[in-house]
Amino acid sequence: MAFYERDVDTMIDTDTLQARIRELGVEITKDYQGKDLTLVGIMKGSVFFLTDLAKAIDLPLTFELMGVSSYHGGTETTGEVRITHDLTKPLHGKHVLVVEDIIDTGLTMKFLLENLGARHPASVKVCTLLEKPSRAKVKVAIDYKGFVIEDRFVVGYGLDWGEKYRNLPFIGVMKAD
Ligand code: 5GP
Repeated sequence: MAFYERDVDTMIDTDTLQARIRELGVEITKDYQGKDLTLVGIMKGSVFFLTDLAKAIDLPLTFELMGVSSYHGGTETTGEVRITHDLTKPLHGKHVLVVEDIIDTGLTMKFLLENLGARHPASVKVCTLLEKPSRAKVKVAIDYKGFVIEDRFVVGYGLDWGEKYRNLPFIGVMKAD
């Protein structure tokens, strides 16, 4: 029995996940023909998605990582976001695609779009693997999205519960949730 089976139920299995990522890759490849594309992955959660998505895009792209942490007042995010790891290269003139694991309240993405937009890229678009629209507090335009999910706490494929479960190859829900 795998280590997680006692605690986690499958929500989106590996095959479904990978098939959708290949579709997103095809779409992004079409949209960014002839453009200087930089993927900006948000750590740590988007790292698994970022690497699979990058492999599914047939373009000479570059990628960067950015780390952010949100302040929480109780269980709810306050919308105050702190940069814990900044980009190493300027974005001036680049077509930036922000790659995120999940958009929940949207507050983190709102902050990121303002922050990245101020660096004078040629364009900024958003790609998220998951969206929980029932929790949205601010409206964020999502250009590419993998799956819309209900309001459950999900883990796996980069998403953590107390830093654990990121290495599951699928999206799961905690049985206790
Ligand atoms: P937002 O600012 O949109 O509320 O929060 C986005 C961040 O909250 C995500 O990048 C992720 O780190 C965290 N988050 C939101 N929902 C979940 C969830 O269901 N599971 C996990 N593991 N993290 C979540």
